[in-house]
Amino acid sequence: MDINKQEGEGRIQVQIRIRPTEEENSCISATETQIILPKTGNSYTYDHIHAATASQQEVYEKVRPIISQFLRGINGTILAYGQTNSGKTHTILGTPEQPGLIRQSATDIFAFINSETRKQFRLTATFIELYNEIIFDLINTNNKPQLRENFTSFFISGADEIEINSEDELLNLIEIGNKNIHFRETIMNQHSSRSHALFRLNIEINNTKDLLSDKKLVATLFFVDLAGSERFSLISSNIQSEKEGSNINKSLLTFRKVVQALSLQQLKQQKMIIKKVGKNESGKGKDEKCKDVKILYDSIDSCLTSDEKVKDFEEDTKDHMFHTEKANQQ
Ligand code: ADP
Ligand code: MG
Repeated sequence: MDINKQEGEGRIQVQIRIRPTEEENSCISATETQIILPKTGNSYTYDHIHAATASQQEVYEKVRPIISQFLRGINGTILAYGQTNSGKTHTILGTPEQPGLIRQSATDIFAFINSETRKQFRLTATFIELYNEIIFDLINTNNKPQLRENFTSFFISGADEIEINSEDELLNLIEIGNKNIHFRETIMNQHSSRSHALFRLNIEINNTKDLLSDKKLVATLFFVDLAGSERFSLISSNIQSEKEGSNINKSLLTFRKVVQALSLQQLKQQKMIIKKVGKNESGKGKDEKCKDVKILYDSIDSCLTSDEKVKDFEEDTKDHMFHTEKANQQ
């Protein structure tokens, strides 16, 4: 498949992956886009449904346009949402034998960068974890990253941002981060079901044909393995987990509101929700909560303007590799 192909472009897509089960009779049936609950006959429609038999490669093909857009300078975010054990980590990260979305995208990203001689790319990555509103650097565990805010956005300071020059370097970074996730798992009970893992890639694209120009595109791609979506009442057995549970729930609820507003094109409402996350309940001052939503702020916020940004850049560079058709804005 051509990496430049903009198949299935859309601002937000919700895809379902059905987890394989050993039971013979599944309680749901599904088409390519609809889940049907046989008991009630109710059906739910999504952008795509991956059957339980879907391979890691098949799932990747359906999110590949996001990687392709990132390489054209458009921000993207891939979130895995679901209960603990539903297959989020398997889908996002996977294993070297069964590579998930991050590992598979590494191959595509460097195939593209190495084939594109008329542009210069600089790729960097951070890999962090958010546990109970505290940020951990999964690359350098000595760091104590903080979420900071400027006039227009939120950003993380104090986490290592590593320059990546090859597919192997990217895979190596994932291994280091993954080892630290497992290490933290061994010292904290049920840790991974209560933390969000965020792998962030940053790309700078320069046009080598026009070295005098300082015009460059910058884009961010997030892969997010969210905490388990099970209800807080199911996981709270003591005060500490109640605190964890309410933080997870608050964040997931805010995500839902932002995504709903985005999908309904309610630009004003979407901005209001994200901005409100930055205030405490009385509407004044700063609220330390919902760091995950804040970390993703730029990526969510700028998808409304990034199509125009790229169009501008492309018109300047007249690059035949990229599609010049107006990107799907809705
Ligand atoms: P989560 O991150 O949502 O808690 P995991 O990704 O860790 O769940 O999946 C739980 C277990 O099920 C893991 O052992 C994983 O390898 C396995 N698993 C999940 N989805 C699949 C799948 N589609 N095919 C094969 N094994 C899967
Ligand atoms: Mg997991």
